Amino acid sequence: MHAGMVIIGAGECGGRAALTLRDLGYEGPVTLIGDEPHLPYERPPLSKEAMTGAAPAIKSITSDAVLAERSIRHIHSVRAVAIDRAERLVRLSDGSSLPYDKLLLATGSLPRKLPMPGLGERCVYLRTFNDALAIRAHLNPKNRVAIIGGGFIGLELAASSRKLGATVTVIEAQPRILMRGVPAEIAAVIHKAHEAEGVTILAGQSIEAIADDGKEVRISLTGGQQIVADLAVIGIGAVPVTGLAAEAGLAVDNGIAVDAELRTADPDIFAAGDCCSFPLAVYGGRRVRLEAWRNAQEQGALAAKNMLGASEAHAAVPWFWSDQYGLTLQIAGLSDEGKSMVRRDLDDGAFILFHLAEDGRLVAASGIGPGNAVARDIRLAEMLIAKRSAPASEALGSQTVKLKSLLAA
Ligand code: FAD
Ligand code: NAP
Repeated sequence: MHAGMVIIGAGECGGRAALTLRDLGYEGPVTLIGDEPHLPYERPPLSKEAMTGAAPAIKSITSDAVLAERSIRHIHSVRAVAIDRAERLVRLSDGSSLPYDKLLLATGSLPRKLPMPGLGERCVYLRTFNDALAIRAHLNPKNRVAIIGGGFIGLELAASSRKLGATVTVIEAQPRILMRGVPAEIAAVIHKAHEAEGVTILAGQSIEAIADDGKEVRISLTGGQQIVADLAVIGIGAVPVTGLAAEAGLAVDNGIAVDAELRTADPDIFAAGDCCSFPLAVYGGRRVRLEAWRNAQEQGALAAKNMLGASEAHAAVPWFWSDQYGLTLQIAGLSDEGKSMVRRDLDDGAFILFHLAEDGRLVAASGIGPGNAVARDIRLAEMLIAKRSAPASEALGSQTVKLKSLLAA
């Protein structure tokens, strides 16, 4: 009798891994353990459509019927509290334990906490559907929302809050929004769009004190300004959930450290998605941790494959997107690998910045424009990056040269 496959974390990555095990024909037991009360669901809508829709709805990745039909056991509202590697057991918060043949850690990440006194019930974070419901209840034309952090959560939520009529102030510690991983030219377009929609962005501002009396939040900035809000949403980054792995003696290096096949130093334990760091072949094995939806899906599927005995390395080029108002930003690759940039203008004000390494190799492409304006070219750029191409700068910059032709070359 097989102990089977156990997956800790019923999110994007864990859910995908469970389904892939069955897609690949595995017939033994598959158990998915999640501490949230829901079926695995999509997080990207939480700051976007789920906020602005008439009735916030959860977008599940699968259904109870599919899980039952595929004999995937989903244990919800229960935490995995320890891994006993010697006995190959996972201990759960309800006192039970589960044996495993192979174990996948897909524990994701959690909001970074603002280390400051004075936070109360009007100071909140956004990670789960339940968080989204609680925030949604405050978004209306009568309310003032202060958003701490001009990153993706903060800006997407600012756009959604404006759509619902709330007054919005974004406070960002860095000199500009989206400082990490997004080029200044693109951040400037997003900044302008927010200002045009009535959002106040206070960049380069540090918070000196916060006072939350349960009705209002008063945020004092070091420059002397005070922001008063009905709700403060804190979006200052995410930290990987690594406690279980660390307590089980597994290495943690900005995430649960895995090899290119997503295996920890224990051959029976894998980690994937937001919680892990891994060597990325396309950048010479640089160890990275990605907090992105597509990565969580791809790594969930790959981990499932390797749990079944394959030895396939993760080779995908990182990619993510963000939607704010009518604009979509897409970035393929790691832009901090670039030493120079080439700009290609597209129709309707859209543009793409190609990031080139010192040797001329294309290492990333960042694009912004209305709707899907940059999608096709970013997809082609992603293929060029994967091929480690070094296209001529003139060709990349010229709208008349098709990227597809560069791929063929
Ligand atoms: P998670 O989705 O975090 O899932 C991990 C799950 O494991 C959670 O349910 C957690 O509660 C559970 N868990 C953890 N520890 C335990 C334990 N010990 N026992 C049981 N369960 C446990 N990415 C994009 O590319 N584009 C976007 O537009 C985008 N928008 C986003 C908007 C929001 C509001 C958020 C929060 C994220 C967004 N992301 C976006 C990021 C994307 O959603 C994540 O990268 C993705 O969800 C990661 O999937 P994961 O399965 O690794 O982790
Ligand atoms: P993020 O994108 O890392 O942005 C956090 C921002 O807050 C950074 O600019 C950070 O600056 C700033 N900050 C840090 N401390 C601050 C402080 N004390 N005061 C003011 N600003 C401060 O993280 P996030 O927006 O919180 O998102 C959390 C998670 O959700 C991430 O995993 C993210 O990928 C995911 N998410 C993704 C998307 C998307 O991809 N479209 C959308 C929503 C959420 P520093 O750089 O100096 O730390």
